[in-house]
Amino acid sequence: MKLNNHLLYVDITNKCNLNCEFCMYKEERKRNPIDLKLNKKAKITISNILNQPETERLIISGEGEPFNNINCIYDILKLSKGNKKIQIITNGLWLISDNSKKILNRLDNLQDENNDKYQIRISFDTFHIKRIGKENYKKIIQKIIQYREESGYIEICFRGILEEKDNVLSMLNREFLEDSQKVKIESISRLETNIIINKNQKINFIFKNLIDLDNIKKQNSFEEYIRSLEEIYKKPFTLGHLKMEENGMDITIKPNGDLFFYGAEIYPIFNIFFDEIDIKKLQNALIKNKILKKLYTIPLLELIKSLKKYKPFENIIQSINNPYWIIKRMYEKDKNKFEELINVN
Ligand code: SF4
Repeated sequence: MKLNNHLLYVDITNKCNLNCEFCMYKEERKRNPIDLKLNKKAKITISNILNQPETERLIISGEGEPFNNINCIYDILKLSKGNKKIQIITNGLWLISDNSKKILNRLDNLQDENNDKYQIRISFDTFHIKRIGKENYKKIIQKIIQYREESGYIEICFRGILEEKDNVLSMLNREFLEDSQKVKIESISRLETNIIINKNQKINFIFKNLIDLDNIKKQNSFEEYIRSLEEIYKKPFTLGHLKMEENGMDITIKPNGDLFFYGAEIYPIFNIFFDEIDIKKLQNALIKNKILKKLYTIPLLELIKSLKKYKPFENIIQSINNPYWIIKRMYEKDKNKFEELINVN
């Protein structure tokens, strides 16, 4: 199995200033609120993985709000030796704080010094808008437009929910822009749109499907969603990097230092505080684990055919429509059955 174009996700906190009712991590946050604090060994590991030429992108995220652990963001960004694409995922609330200008300046400078390419991705869906409040949300949008007009070194994009795509696009126009701000929508695919504000500001909008909110989930939308991804990226969906021709490892580091492959978080591999880790070791761990290897090489829609034969798994597939969460929930439900049915393939 050839592995190239790795993604490195670092979840730097599970604490959040919004504490949304629908958050997938709310129970874990209550049980064990935690911020990632890098020690020397952890920095060496992140630097090792990030600075490999085969590592395509670093994503700083959280099971909470990463800007709540801002020093860790700076510590990680400083580890880059240049020419890296780095995305930071956020609910955007920090953009209306008194510190926002200072933070954006610092990020602008770091991007420049390291010769990297940053992108900040902000949640734009009715659940977050309700939680943040429309007035505050309008301030966030206006802050983004102002930043992009004044300097705009860092790309800003939105992430929405597929099921409410039309609604949020019209909300943007109706509720969050000034009368003088004209917007044009350029559709790229079912899951991606560009928004052009005042003819010169392009903001990319990616739509993902909901995970398990039964009340508005369309039946069988999971398979439809996977087919859309396959159509867009012109490759069968397996775990691993979606966009590139050659599949890469999706390496995820959690706030407690545990390291997994994204979507297969059922198999902890290492811990960045205790283990010596490099890309070679990670590749070996993936290839040697029979189940992980199958999840990375066999299209998920094929694996689902055998997994669905077991009724409790069929129920999970019906009620959750995110591939990574489906795998996690099936494994938690019945580890032995999960491995037995994957092994049939
Ligand atoms: S903003 Fe995101 S991470 Fe924070 S509670 Fe809401 S859903 Fe969870």
